[in-house]
Amino acid sequence: MVAEQLIPHGVTDERVLRVMAEIPRDEFLTGPARRHAYEDRALQIGCGQTISQPLVVALMTQSLNLQPESTALEVGTGSGYQAAILSRLCSRVITIEREAALAEQASATLRRLGFDNVEVAVADGSLGWPSAAPYDAILVACAAREVPQPLVDQLAPGGRLVVPVQVAGEEPQDLRLYARAGDEVTYRSLFPVLFVPLRTG
Ligand code: SAH
Repeated sequence: MVAEQLIPHGVTDERVLRVMAEIPRDEFLTGPARRHAYEDRALQIGCGQTISQPLVVALMTQSLNLQPESTALEVGTGSGYQAAILSRLCSRVITIEREAALAEQASATLRRLGFDNVEVAVADGSLGWPSAAPYDAILVACAAREVPQPLVDQLAPGGRLVVPVQVAGEEPQDLRLYARAGDEVTYRSLFPVLFVPLRTG
């Protein structure tokens, strides 16, 4: 996976490559999806949701430039795989999932594998998680029509937010990297993606 999918397609951060090589992606999958764990594609994880293609996980993670002391927030825990990757590159991860069944399973997997700096919450992640804010990094793993303002508000100075944005009438979605410098928040588009929708409420 690392040699054939990540390195040839722009993943250059050695730390990201190392954790993607170390963390067993198959442990986050169940049933028939498991034997496809290292293939170059998204896979079903139940409740109509998907775990992203490894390359997308790697590039989104790399874009956040995590530091050992960073605190990260993820919206859309799904299987817990992306949270596990983040957790090995920073000090604390809060991850929010609105499907209780997925959150419970992800939480059990993360505990079983010893990812003890990850906290899983069942809630609407578009509101962020104010009690642990501000965040040095925020990763949204579902597509929003507009970037939720609470997430922007919970970004630390110098913080980064990566989010797929579903521009009205356009497909695929636009993966954007927002950065806060002082009071100013700017973004640049990274590449087109296809994520499941962010559902509020
Ligand atoms: N990062 C995951 C994949 C996420 S799939 C992994 O590594 O496996 C996107 C997830 O976002 C789905 O599980 C979906 O239920 C969740 N989701 C959608 N809208 C949400 C919201 N408002 N708050 C929290 N989670 C949400």
